[in-house]
Amino acid sequence: MLGWSINLFRLFGIQLAVHVSFLLLLAYYAWIGWQEGRWAGMFWSVGFITLFFVCVVLHEFGHSLTAQRYGVSVRRILLLPIGGMAEMDQIPRRPSAELLITVAGPAVNFVIAALVIPFAWREMIGLVPFEAYSTADTLAHLGWANLVMGTFNLLPVFPMDGGRIFRAVLACYLPYLRATWWAVTVGRTLALVFAGLALFYFDNAMAAVLFAFIFMAAGAEYRMLLQREQEAAYWAELARRVAVVPEVDESPEPPLLRRGPN
Ligand code: ZN
Repeated sequence: MLGWSINLFRLFGIQLAVHVSFLLLLAYYAWIGWQEGRWAGMFWSVGFITLFFVCVVLHEFGHSLTAQRYGVSVRRILLLPIGGMAEMDQIPRRPSAELLITVAGPAVNFVIAALVIPFAWREMIGLVPFEAYSTADTLAHLGWANLVMGTFNLLPVFPMDGGRIFRAVLACYLPYLRATWWAVTVGRTLALVFAGLALFYFDNAMAAVLFAFIFMAAGAEYRMLLQREQEAAYWAELARRVAVVPEVDESPEPPLLRRGPN
């Protein structure tokens, strides 16, 4: 399903791609804008959602360029209607590296907000009236969008940025797998709470779906890590047995080659 994407351009060796479902999102915002303000509304609405996703891309570049500094290769950044995804190789387990790579994303949003706020803070808090679809309108929305994006990503809901930061902090005190288990468990609990709140209190089905997606992604990432750990343990055991061969007379028993459910 994730293969249904359109490549846009490469930047810093990273391919930027949009998932085809993104076109539905643009169509949806065009329709909303049309209902609110005909042509002007439609252009502003599509223009703003594009600008919003430019900020999402910059957020992902924040993660990606920091990761590249640690020698991690980043294959592409994929834009989905629910947000961006930087596809990178395994990131370093050193908590300081993971922390910096993770923090760099939301930091980009706060930098954008800090650039916009001096020009639009009065409009942002409704101190002065402004014309719909004007530059002031756009800047006010852009400021809020980046403040919300930066803050939302810092919620400690693994595998969102806040959850990864939580794991990196835990990993200073616990083994990596154990730290991940705690981050996933806390994150999944919070994801359920937030999904419930979104659905029954804020009447926002989109946010509920997003948290359900995050809930599943957390489980998937944990299972992947668990499998990788088991494989690493297997190879370590194999290496240990091979290493002791010269010391013993009889040949060692071959290690169990099976893993997984069988
Ligand atoms: Zn992020």
